[in-house]
Amino acid sequence: MATRVIPPRILRNLRYNTATKPLASSHPSSLSPTLSPPCLSDPKPPSQTVLRPALDPSALDFNDVQSLFSYVPTSNLLRSTAVLHATAVEPMVDLGMWIMRSKLFEVEGVKDVILAAIRNTFYGHFCAGEDAVTAGKSIRALNDAGLRGMLVYGVEDAHDNEGCDRNLKCFLHTVDVSRSLPPSSVSFVIVKITAICPMSLLERLSDLLRWQQKDPSFNLPWKQDSFPLFSDSTPLYHTRKRPEALTPQEESDLELAMQRLNELSQKCVQANVPLLVDAEHTSVQPAIDYFTYNAAINHNKGESPIVFGTMQTYLKDAKERLLLATKAADKMGIPMGFKLVRGAYMSSERKLASSLGYASPIHNTIQDTHKCFNDCSSFLLEKVANGPGGLVLATHNIESGKLAAAKAHEIGIGKVNHKLEFAQLLGMSEALSYGLSNAGFQVSKYMPFGPVETVMPYLLRRAEENRGMLAASGFDRLLMRKELGRRLKAALGV
Ligand SMILES: Cc1cc2nc3c(=O)[nH]c(=O)nc-3n(C[C@H](O)[C@H](O)[C@H](O)COP(=O)(O)OP(=O)(O)OC[C@H]3O[C@@H](n4cnc5c(N)ncnc54)[C@H](O)[C@@H]3O)c2cc1C
Repeated sequence: MATRVIPPRILRNLRYNTATKPLASSHPSSLSPTLSPPCLSDPKPPSQTVLRPALDPSALDFNDVQSLFSYVPTSNLLRSTAVLHATAVEPMVDLGMWIMRSKLFEVEGVKDVILAAIRNTFYGHFCAGEDAVTAGKSIRALNDAGLRGMLVYGVEDAHDNEGCDRNLKCFLHTVDVSRSLPPSSVSFVIVKITAICPMSLLERLSDLLRWQQKDPSFNLPWKQDSFPLFSDSTPLYHTRKRPEALTPQEESDLELAMQRLNELSQKCVQANVPLLVDAEHTSVQPAIDYFTYNAAINHNKGESPIVFGTMQTYLKDAKERLLLATKAADKMGIPMGFKLVRGAYMSSERKLASSLGYASPIHNTIQDTHKCFNDCSSFLLEKVANGPGGLVLATHNIESGKLAAAKAHEIGIGKVNHKLEFAQLLGMSEALSYGLSNAGFQVSKYMPFGPVETVMPYLLRRAEENRGMLAASGFDRLLMRKELGRRLKAALGV
């Protein structure tokens, strides 16, 4: 819309300032790679490297929009502003969901039109590309601006072994893509356990694990090494009666699922890129954590985690589970990595708990969630500063970003030891991403890629889960508008 208002000649003349970031290596050569997570610590410089100022959280300055967006071309700023406006309007999200789920999407000609519209707007804004080549280009562009990419092949839940095998191929392919890109430009490869283990089996495993928590004498012959999955305060209402033992078929499916994660982890070890496991609904999270911790025990060696788990801090028991898991990892000498998020399944979690007549597992107030995120972040920052492990702070929350940046600065964590990565979704919170990067931290964007049709349901689900977050993009839009205004004035010479 805005491109029609501003003549193309002026658009071409709008300059974004590249002078604030002289080029040089962002990777100190004196680092011992063994002291840092692989890839987070890759000593080789990216294709075009950017010198950041010395770590300085006071540089987390959102007033200076010129340097904040100095790496963002005007065309991108315009599209971002337009798309973020659209996604901030709840009826737009509703309409998108409705179209995707309606019969319209099955009509051949109409489907092509809808896909083309999505490709040029939302998909183009929130996704890295339809194939490895385009995703690679997006990563390089991001890397040139000083950010890195977390690559996630956009697949949905699997319901049988064939679906899991298909999805595994996509995840293995993602590791190959990351290998083909400039060293350290891909910070993580992402996996969803619900894509490589059938959903019904994850539910069964979670039931069995929960029952063992209720009754420690309950025998699970298939269970291998893991860290604690529950704390004393973890709600166990999902499992109300003693579950049947796994059938031979289920045991064999479990074996296949473990092999899939093992193959993927092994490939990540070889490619020297960490694997980050996403967190999902509490109905299946015990099984997801079981897979994750078992893979971490088998593959995380020395000081550097290969397999990272995710902790959802909107859950009341998050802090306790985090303490238990990190304590067990320390005791076993396993370097553990965690991604901290607030959590994306709030409404379905609340609905499920209330339908079963239980209190919600989510903190009663948003302030409690903020506190839990910030406390867990502070705990893990201190932990990785004093020992092995890695931490990803995945948030768009400005206050959490500022607090963590100040704490990291205080205890001396930043680019210099590569144990901390901030992360935001691609197309979201550009101000926070560039602000943290300008202040000298490592920052990644979570970048789904794959064919539009495959990735869109995933993106729309994310949009639905994150309505509040999209509506909260107002801060970003405000700063982008300010910078667009500045560039326009500069181009017009006023
Ligand atoms: C890189 C990245 C990876 C992610 N991976 C995952 C993942 O693996 N699993 C997952 O579940 N999510 C994941 N998310 C999504 C994340 O959990 C959040 O949904 C999203 O980032 C918004 O939280 P925020 O930290 O950005 O904070 P904010 O922008 O401050 O958003 C806070 C949101 O939290 C919600 N909220 C939480 N607790 C409460 C409460 N008690 N009362 C009211 N509202 C509450 C509200 O909807 C509010 O909008 C990821 C996000 C990013 C950026």
